[in-house]
Amino acid sequence: MKKTVSILSASLLLLSLLPSNVFAYTYSDNGKPFPDKNFTYYSTLSPNYSGPAAEAMADWSRAVEASYTAVSPTYNEIQFSDNDYGATEWNATTDHHHVQFSSYDYLDEVRANRYYMGSMSSVTREGVFGHELGHVFGLGHTTNTWTLMCTSQDGRVVVTPQFDDIQGVESLY
Ligand SMILES: [Zn+2]
Repeated sequence: MKKTVSILSASLLLLSLLPSNVFAYTYSDNGKPFPDKNFTYYSTLSPNYSGPAAEAMADWSRAVEASYTAVSPTYNEIQFSDNDYGATEWNATTDHHHVQFSSYDYLDEVRANRYYMGSMSSVTREGVFGHELGHVFGLGHTTNTWTLMCTSQDGRVVVTPQFDDIQGVESLY
């Protein structure tokens, strides 16, 4: 763990020395899992989480013309939930499950960990959900702190999709 932290510090230092227009982005860690940017979802999020998740969906809708439609628990592409998972070292995760529905292969499960997210402001929660929705598109992690796909451990400072995140989605869809 100590070693990881020192490597991380070194890479952050290196990044700060690079010109600001050089991004260390990773556009895809999962190919293009869905056929288009029109998603169906089912949510069991509690009130303090459903608002920020809705804001994150609105952010992506504005950024890349994605749409998110609430549907029944049976047929959906994204499932949102929150729970106290304890000290897992992740605020939230997105798990890709292979399914074989007619028009797509994946069901993405976005899980919020109340253990860490419980003390966050709603704006910070919006950033966490926005980041996870980036994974739903198929985006991987970046190390530029001014991109939504940077992890909070790596010091993400934005809560909405930025140019680099948008370029990533547009390269996939
Ligand atoms: Zn992530």
